[in-house]
Amino acid sequence: MSQPLGGSAAVRPMVVANWKMNGLRRDSRDFVHAFAKLKRGAGGVKCDIIVCPPATLLLELRDVLQGSGVGLGGQNCHRAVKGAHTGDISAEMLADCGCAYVILGHSERRADHGETSELVREKVSAALFAGLQIILCVGESEQERDDGGALRVVSQQLESSLSHEANSASVAIAYEPVWAIGTGRTPSLAEIKDMHAHIRKTYKEIKTGGANGLRVLYGGSVKTKNAADILAIEGVDGALVGGASLLAEEFWAICAHYGS
Ligand code: PEP
Repeated sequence: MSQPLGGSAAVRPMVVANWKMNGLRRDSRDFVHAFAKLKRGAGGVKCDIIVCPPATLLLELRDVLQGSGVGLGGQNCHRAVKGAHTGDISAEMLADCGCAYVILGHSERRADHGETSELVREKVSAALFAGLQIILCVGESEQERDDGGALRVVSQQLESSLSHEANSASVAIAYEPVWAIGTGRTPSLAEIKDMHAHIRKTYKEIKTGGANGLRVLYGGSVKTKNAADILAIEGVDGALVGGASLLAEEFWAICAHYGS
């Protein structure tokens, strides 16, 4: 580890792999074996590591991840417990497949499926009811940032998406500027720091119980080459990683910044 890590006092950082619509059963087994070997070789890390594969790989991964210390999460769930929703998956089904986590409100769901923050809030409630921990994504578009509206947009997303049952033990917030996802571009380190402080402040205003224990992750083009700088920012409690989480070596190199 070349430089000290940022983060908030007394929270265990979290590094989450979002595989999106990538991976077949064979790939996932290879990934886990390679990743577990790297992790064992390093003697562990001081962060929670979670892999969120496509739904088709959940059972496969549940079995191969056993004993690896890596958690399993879904990428989405329906707001209803069950019913006539062809092609959807409930939070309880995720839990039944071994998931302890679910990503909700990802900007690709918002863009591709028209998900609003109000719908995300219903999904948050459903996921909490099923006993899942949530990685709740928020983030502004490029236009919104250029117009000076990034802080306002993120506050609104938080206010509309956080259900009243949500608390800092059950929800981590992932700040993911839409324009940074999959583009190789990131905000400046100062912009990330400011937004994370803003998220914590907004969370405290929404949840009168305060933000103690809240984890605020950064996501959007985190790679091995920029992870050290990003994870060292004050108030960054980990990362949500897309493209760079598809290769065990790359994902491990990011997690390894929290080396033991
Ligand atoms: C994501 O989609 O959650 C993400 C962070 O993607 P990438 O790392 O590829 O930008």
